[in-house]
Amino acid sequence: MTDWNAMSDEAFRREMRAFIEAEYPRELRYILRRARWDEMKGWWGKLYGKGWIAPNWPRAEGGMGLDAGKMVIYLEEMERYGVARSPDQGITQVGPILMQFGTEAQKRHYLPRTLSGECIWCQGYSEPNAGSDLASLQTAAVPEGDHFVVNGQKIWTTLAHDATHIYLLARTDRQAKKQQGISFLLADLKTPGITIRPIRNIAGHEEFCEVFFDRVRVPRENLVGKLNEGWTVAKALLSFERLNIGSPRRPQYALRRLEMLARAKGLLDDPGFVDRFIALKLDLEDLASLYGRFVGRAKRGEPLGEDVSMLKIWAMETWQQLTELLIEAGAEEGVIAGVREIAGVETDFLSPFYYARPATIYGGSSEIQRNILAKYVLKLPS
Ligand SMILES: Cc1cc2nc3c(=O)[nH]c(=O)nc-3n(C[C@H](O)[C@H](O)[C@H](O)COP(=O)(O)OP(=O)(O)OC[C@H]3O[C@@H](n4cnc5c(N)ncnc54)[C@H](O)[C@@H]3O)c2cc1C
Repeated sequence: MTDWNAMSDEAFRREMRAFIEAEYPRELRYILRRARWDEMKGWWGKLYGKGWIAPNWPRAEGGMGLDAGKMVIYLEEMERYGVARSPDQGITQVGPILMQFGTEAQKRHYLPRTLSGECIWCQGYSEPNAGSDLASLQTAAVPEGDHFVVNGQKIWTTLAHDATHIYLLARTDRQAKKQQGISFLLADLKTPGITIRPIRNIAGHEEFCEVFFDRVRVPRENLVGKLNEGWTVAKALLSFERLNIGSPRRPQYALRRLEMLARAKGLLDDPGFVDRFIALKLDLEDLASLYGRFVGRAKRGEPLGEDVSMLKIWAMETWQQLTELLIEAGAEEGVIAGVREIAGVETDFLSPFYYARPATIYGGSSEIQRNILAKYVLKLPS
């Protein structure tokens, strides 16, 4: 098995670039919406075949075991070619969680299937009245023999209509304090009683769904961690999610488009524009180095810590500012939907802007991340 970390950065970058350019479908470059599984499964198969589907997993589990520096190169190369994000929650979140909290049987069953794409995961955390205040969730799982019977509703479940499995939080003890009566379960979405209804977003894409549970029988062996202690698992998973969302990948793409447009329009001669552009470019450099630090922690198996919230805020707010500057740079063309051509450069101004808007909401809103930093990192009084 190749030790990618032992390669020089240049050789690793070269090999990645050649592979991506040869194998990634051209028509899926730079698409400005979440790609669907049908579109991505061919590419998934190629990455899986090469052993490159899970850069963050240890090699012993079938991952690449990349160190922080190589991880940044991996993301940069994907970004450079405009590779769309696959339905990757199994790789970025479920895998690391099962390695930490799963039973041997769960690991044996789910890890290889998650790598191969046989199991595609979605996240059943949020409910209509439990988003930021996640611990208020009401979906209930009642033990009955060797099953739990689950009733309730999840919402904003990204790409549930493409997934085969869901990981969900459910209340297993109504008497306990909010956080203490919650358990973390895995469910097959084909189980009778599960209904998935897509929701259309402002850009017209069906990116997320409502998921309804009506007397759904989930085997007890699908409990991850201990009964009523799912909050610990849930929080660890959110840290992995924040690490993934905090990657410099998406803001880098926006920066590259902005730079191309600015060159074409001569904006780099405008000191006012250059001030803002350079400030954002430097913010992005800092983001890449901060990201590298957290990837290093994850790789060493250290807890990510509450300060990973800083990464998420920084990545998402920088991304939003870049998409706003892109619209301004487009001037009157910048507010028209669809691909516009300015001085020979084709740019879709509004899609990146729309795409970046919810980023300060999902994975925990910026306000909630700031609360976490205030409470747990700065130790300010609540
Ligand atoms: C594109 C997208 C994809 C998503 N995908 C998923 C998914 O796959 N699975 C899933 O489970 N969920 C998903 N979500 C849901 C997401 O996690 C929630 O939207 C988010 O946690 C906020 O919850 P809410 O929408 O209920 O807003 P609310 O919690 O009602 O918050 C409304 C506003 O009040 C602010 N606020 C709330 N409480 C506080 C507080 N204590 N202090 C300061 N400000 C506060 C919030 O910051 C926000 O601005 C997704 C959301 C989006 C937008």
